[in-house]
Amino acid sequence: MSAQEKNNKLEALASLCKRRGFIFQTSEIYGGLNGFWDYGPLGAELKRNIKDAWWKAMVHEREDIVGLDSAIIQHPRTWEASGHLEGFTDPMVDCKACKKRFRADQFCEEQGLKLECDANKKPLLPAGAKCPACGSKDITPPRAFNLMFKTYVGPQEDTSTLAFLRPETAQGIFAQYNNVLACARVKVPFGIAQIGKAFRNEINPRNYTFRSREFEQMELEFFVKPGTDAEWHEYWVAERLKWYSRIGLPEGHLHRYVYGKDELAHYASACVDVLYDFPFGTQELEGIAARGDFDLGRHQQFSGKSMEYFDQDTKEKFVPHVVEPSAGTDRIALALLCEAFHEEWVPTSDVAGAQPIPVDYDNPKQPQGHELRTVLRFAPCIAPIKVAVFPLLKNKPDLVTKARGVYDTLRKRWSAFWDVAGAIGRRYRRQDEIGTPFGVTVDFQTLEDDTVTLRERDSMQQVRVKIGELPERLSAAIG
Ligand code: ATP
Repeated sequence: MSAQEKNNKLEALASLCKRRGFIFQTSEIYGGLNGFWDYGPLGAELKRNIKDAWWKAMVHEREDIVGLDSAIIQHPRTWEASGHLEGFTDPMVDCKACKKRFRADQFCEEQGLKLECDANKKPLLPAGAKCPACGSKDITPPRAFNLMFKTYVGPQEDTSTLAFLRPETAQGIFAQYNNVLACARVKVPFGIAQIGKAFRNEINPRNYTFRSREFEQMELEFFVKPGTDAEWHEYWVAERLKWYSRIGLPEGHLHRYVYGKDELAHYASACVDVLYDFPFGTQELEGIAARGDFDLGRHQQFSGKSMEYFDQDTKEKFVPHVVEPSAGTDRIALALLCEAFHEEWVPTSDVAGAQPIPVDYDNPKQPQGHELRTVLRFAPCIAPIKVAVFPLLKNKPDLVTKARGVYDTLRKRWSAFWDVAGAIGRRYRRQDEIGTPFGVTVDFQTLEDDTVTLRERDSMQQVRVKIGELPERLSAAIG
């Protein structure tokens, strides 16, 4: 697919997301706020499903991981200990001609250049770098811009009350490590998992929701015995890749980026990023790092509280090492939307087995006798709505009552949708567009033999099923 085609596809997806209530611009009525997004009714369901799938795989299905929900604002010393206050910066430059501000490393990369460093390890613009907006070469030297949002706690605004919105959820886990250890009957190796908002004052938010200033993270800190870091790191990379395929991101569209020794932070022994083929490039969904004892060690040093663990089996004391899989919920939601989104030309009537023609985004001309079918091919476990129920006709009370009974039964278990409006084909299309995997239609035959039509989104196949068998059939597919 050409770059233009990919762009057109992303635009078509963004327009669907707005129209059907997945993603809205924050504060749209006031012109929006760059880097912030709201999730509409379906987007909220989608994100909830992602978080539930992660929590289930990380916490509920395991005995060695427990959950935590820590505060967004932590004691400011946290960020001194973690290194964020000093080092959580991006190199920022200003174009003196057009006054626009950029992240220097990003725009160098886009121009095929590499940000250099001077003798004091300060970033230096390479010769040839020019402003991506106006082309001027009159650009300020890069300076460090700290990405943490600042706020004040309490009614006084001075340095003693200065605090930060967390730029990652991980530090709340390290800070509560001792309390969790004391209460949760866990033994090394064990993990603490957390899902929550994080905030970064990104210099250039971009690529739709990919780089935002407020986003959600799903982070696991897995504490291991020193010396076992490499095997646990490998284990977690494999586990996380399996999880992505479970939620519907195929292996073929995922990549691993293995950090070279010279790219690793000084305390880390290994790091692998999981990347996805977004329309705007292959980009990071998650980072999985073996961070040694850096985090617990620093909190021990800054708080004066021991973070040592006593191993009952080997009678040894040590500060555990940590392996950290850290994923972004919003980036995963965007990847799932990109993966699921298909536009195709189908014959005007809903013909089972008819081969759809994929839309060519360079030349989106409608073939004769065909209409556009937009479909989100979400894995059923991720789909915001699992099943839609339709009475064939809305002005036949018998059909409506019967269908309502089916709907009431199904929605006790799954997110279900009730739709009586318009021709049945149109109703199917509306559900295809939001990725609902199943449609149940109640027609006149239902009144005679208690069977309904069960339509499957991807194949558009319809089969007749006894009402009593619906829960079992659906649960086999949805879970
Ligand atoms: P990037 O290099 O893209 O800025 P990062 O390496 O700084 O990301 P981490 O600090 O490892 O990211 O954060 C873990 C995860 O949090 C990322 O893999 C990503 O999914 C998510 N994340 C980080 N920054 C953002 C952001 N600005 N918007 C949305 N998600 C983000």
